[in-house]
Amino acid sequence: RDGTTNARKDSAGFRAEALRIDGERIRTERHLDVVNPYTGERVGTVGLATIEHVRRAYEVAQACVPTLSRYERAAILNRAAALLRERTEEASNLITAESGLSKRDSVYEIGRVADVLGFGATEALRDDGQVFSCDLTPHGKRRKVITMREPLLGVITAITPFNHPMNQVAHKVVPSVATNNRMVLKPSEKVPLSALYFADLLYEAGLPSGMLQVLTGDPREIADELLTNPSVDLITFTGGVSIGKYIAHKAGYRRIVLELGGNDPLIVMDDADLDKASDLAVQGSYKNSGQRCTAVKRMLVHEKVAHEFTERVVAKTRAWRYGDPMDATNEMGTVIDAAAAKLFEARVEEAVAQGARLLAGNKREGAMYSPTVLDRVRPEMTVVREETFGPVSPIITFKNIDEAIAISNGTAFGLSSGICTNRMDDATRFAKELNVGTVNLWQVPGYRIELTPFGGIKDSGLGYKEGVQEAMKSFCNGKTFTMPW
Ligand code: NAD
Repeated sequence: RDGTTNARKDSAGFRAEALRIDGERIRTERHLDVVNPYTGERVGTVGLATIEHVRRAYEVAQACVPTLSRYERAAILNRAAALLRERTEEASNLITAESGLSKRDSVYEIGRVADVLGFGATEALRDDGQVFSCDLTPHGKRRKVITMREPLLGVITAITPFNHPMNQVAHKVVPSVATNNRMVLKPSEKVPLSALYFADLLYEAGLPSGMLQVLTGDPREIADELLTNPSVDLITFTGGVSIGKYIAHKAGYRRIVLELGGNDPLIVMDDADLDKASDLAVQGSYKNSGQRCTAVKRMLVHEKVAHEFTERVVAKTRAWRYGDPMDATNEMGTVIDAAAAKLFEARVEEAVAQGARLLAGNKREGAMYSPTVLDRVRPEMTVVREETFGPVSPIITFKNIDEAIAISNGTAFGLSSGICTNRMDDATRFAKELNVGTVNLWQVPGYRIELTPFGGIKDSGLGYKEGVQEAMKSFCNGKTFTMPW
């Protein structure tokens, strides 16, 4: 991935990509390889933008004055959704090739992206303005206040992570289009091809090119300009905590929306149906190769049912098919790269050295890392104290609900959670006392629909929500108009 791997074989369908500025494909002098984590072949190359390219992208975006009606915005988004559905095979192949995610995961992702487009279209048609009468108090006047939302005066910077190569991008671009904003997007350098594919789909569906520029490059060279260019009004970032905090430090007098890491628990109480709970446990832990901000990263289990629950999780883990990502019978492909797989292996080995017990997995070959179960895990072990962004299932036991809540709240993160109990009193305690953005009863922490509010607190985010509707709100300036009435 460092541009020095030219000896690699190129895959069939190799893509020599360019930047997207002002509706043109801009070729650059230097390139970055995009490598298939399973085959090691080059899937394509993308341009390494220079500071001049970045400045030009903001100039073009700032000069564009979007005038699309609500109808036109909805029509573009609906057309893009239809095109994407027709091309599910091609688009999911691209995601799988550059990320190593299984075809099952990438086909599922395409469905989610189409949903984001569809919800964006519906929301674009909806004016959520409010009307207030002003004669409500003794000193009131016969006037009305009307609220409205306007696009930002400046440009939105969007920076996305690798884990859902197209859906992370859609969750930023679609709300921007739906609100008539201008955006400069910098996708993850690990999976930039799906982002370019998505942008092209929107242009084909009729998006005016000035409304979306796509830059690829080395963040060490261009990130600061993306954060501090005078045209930037808002930065929307999804990714890890350290870069998120760097952005907060750099952004100055600008709005920022940060969706950062997670360390989400699945909490299993002693009354839980263990078949159902263990199904949620493995799905939450291994789908998308465990690379979801809301993946199950810790299983907190009541000690009375821990043995039985663990047996079921181990059996279901052994049955989880993984291997060649293009083989549709495999549930899981690779993780993003060999370095990530090595990190998981090292954390699991460290936990075992500290007294945890390895029950399944921890096998690594290149970027392939097997689904892994560990029990006798203690909250202070790195594998659960830090975010372990891969298919690892560490099991921690607790004695009662107070301890479950304390362990759950005991990390720096606060994104989401899943709860397995049928007792309403326990469920409502979790809903009130977990310091997280979401509590899902009888679902994995990752459960959501693309429309609804989503986002975390503590190190997981600043409490702003994403999801199409909330993102559209956060991308606008509120204005009130008052008049005699
Ligand atoms: P990352 O933080 O390494 O990279 C994210 C993006 O930041 C990339 O596009 C990268 O090029 C860019 N970047 C790098 N240096 C930068 C800088 N100095 N300034 C600005 N941008 C810079 O994250 P990743 O490894 O791609 O993704 C995994 C992380 O993302 C995990 O921590 C995961 O939990 C998190 N995530 C969060 C959510 C959420 O909604 N909360 C969703 C998915 C992933």
